Amino acid sequence: MADTLPFQAEVKQLLDLVVHSLYSDREIFLRELVSNASDAIDRARILGLTRNDLVAAEGEPAIEIEVNRDRGVLVVRDNGIGMTREQAVEHLGTIARSGTRAFAQSLKEKGDTADGLIGQFGVGFYASFMVASRVEVHTRSAEPGAEPVIWTSDGGGEFSVEPGSRATRGTAVTLHLRSDCHEFLDGWKIKDIVKKHSGFVAYPVKFDGEQLNEPQALWMRSPAEVSDDDYKAFYMQGLGEWDEPSSWVHFRAEAPLEYQAVLFFPSRKPYDLDYPDGKRGVRLYQRRVLIAEASDQFLPRYLRYVKGVIDAPEVSLNVSREILQNTPVLRSIKNQVVKRVLRRLRELSREDVATYTQFWEAFGATLKEGVAEDRDNHDNLVPLLRFRTTAGDEWRELAQVKADMKDGQKEIGYLTGLDLGRLRNSPQLERWKKKGWEVLLLSDPVDEWVVMNLNEFDGVKLVSVAQGDVEADDDPIAEEARKQAEPFTAWAKELLGELVAGVRPSKRLTDSPAVLVDEGNVSANLERILRAARQDGPKARRVLEVNPEHALVKKLVAMHAAGDTAGAEPLARLLYDYAQLAEGHVDDVSGLTQRLSALMLRVAGG
Ligand code: ADP
Ligand code: MG
Repeated sequence: MADTLPFQAEVKQLLDLVVHSLYSDREIFLRELVSNASDAIDRARILGLTRNDLVAAEGEPAIEIEVNRDRGVLVVRDNGIGMTREQAVEHLGTIARSGTRAFAQSLKEKGDTADGLIGQFGVGFYASFMVASRVEVHTRSAEPGAEPVIWTSDGGGEFSVEPGSRATRGTAVTLHLRSDCHEFLDGWKIKDIVKKHSGFVAYPVKFDGEQLNEPQALWMRSPAEVSDDDYKAFYMQGLGEWDEPSSWVHFRAEAPLEYQAVLFFPSRKPYDLDYPDGKRGVRLYQRRVLIAEASDQFLPRYLRYVKGVIDAPEVSLNVSREILQNTPVLRSIKNQVVKRVLRRLRELSREDVATYTQFWEAFGATLKEGVAEDRDNHDNLVPLLRFRTTAGDEWRELAQVKADMKDGQKEIGYLTGLDLGRLRNSPQLERWKKKGWEVLLLSDPVDEWVVMNLNEFDGVKLVSVAQGDVEADDDPIAEEARKQAEPFTAWAKELLGELVAGVRPSKRLTDSPAVLVDEGNVSANLERILRAARQDGPKARRVLEVNPEHALVKKLVAMHAAGDTAGAEPLARLLYDYAQLAEGHVDDVSGLTQRLSALMLRVAGG
């Protein structure tokens, strides 16, 4: 008694695409089936760590490929976890898991130009329908008492499930190849594809009794014997990643603790990097036996994009064997691993600037979290930082900024905000620009926390160019202009009241009439970030500075001195609006529009 069920709508859409695509690299279907088989063996092993009631596998863990040329059939067989009837319906009828879900996500974003995406993501199990007119999955779960089932579909809108006859745990996926796909019955072809796409799968992949993949775990080999291509292939085939790694580090430690690690930096930012439930962590093995698929206990959060394997036989597991115990052994490995990773990044930044820049653009904002979180590695992190600055469009490091300091410049300035373009044009930079002093432009939200933890670099203080009063240059004319503006600024403070913490004649402006500066430790930018995250934070104190040498300010000073406060008032308020506008955030928009229309009316002679 077979039950016929419809595919989930997203699966149907995916299948339509897969079946009708002219994707030329159809051979990747085999990679997908082999990697599912390998995942199934992994899952059985991991579950077996905590359960002893699972049905045992027949023989050693292995993946077998078989063909029947007469019938035009190709089979991929594993002795992994298998599926119950419910699981077959759920996992093969809906978009169940990681890889395929990420594909569907990209599909939504990019529309149906899916050709490149198929190669990149593989589309998982459904890639079978690129080459098969009918797919049968004969499976039996390792759960005690589970019944065998057969899942069948021709890749149209539905599939069927019926009782099967498989006697052992595991899964066999049988593809009835389309007539234009009989090349995949050829032994050479199969060997070739497996070596190319699945050479680093962790379990033996066999065809005609011959093992096709690498017999030795890559991380156990000596780094000198492993080629760049091997590392890249391992990253994609062994770890199941989709991009190319931008770099990697492979090392072994022997004393006092023994462990091996091979760790990779991806080249592209994964879409779930900042999701709280995003997939992260490295694989933990003990003497080549997989213990955890994604352990986040070896690397701090700011290195959460690092992928790879740590084989650490001496790490102890707790009773349920699911969480590692936070022992001194674990902590000591973690410390060493972090240092090796940071050291590798340092090397990369020196040896290959282009690759490091690509890494920085994808992961710099995340790495910067380390400056706020990891005091122990502060000195290892700071040289890795790269900044946009007023010196040009290049990424700059602090050592360069320091080396290029001008005579008379005692500090390195920075300016925070959320929009780089706006920062570049901020009036707050005017004094620094005039002197030719380079300023760091910090436009990631995390930068506020970076500067809180980065008070100086190599003996030079880092200061906000938007904060506090500044030292006056020795210029008697400017000094005189400021003096004359003081009665006006005192009056303007009365006028603006609580809106500002003060109003004063500016020493930092050259071109603009007015600017808002931060007074105290909380910047307006930080206040806005916290507010956007719905967190209550301290309020920024802001001072309005006016440029006493600007024609408009001079005029206002004169109006005020002549007793024309009625005429000066709307303009003084607009000056405050103007300073807010320059930052791109006006609190009182309706007030501003009213003031503007009144002004326009007046100018028009109304
Ligand atoms: P993904 O591998 O990214 O999860 P797939 O489309 O490749 O997506 O597979 C969908 C799901 O089907 C898997 O997550 C798994 O639960 C199940 N599955 C596929 N092949 C097997 C297999 N050989 N053994 C057990 N379960 C499998
Ligand atoms: Mg898969």
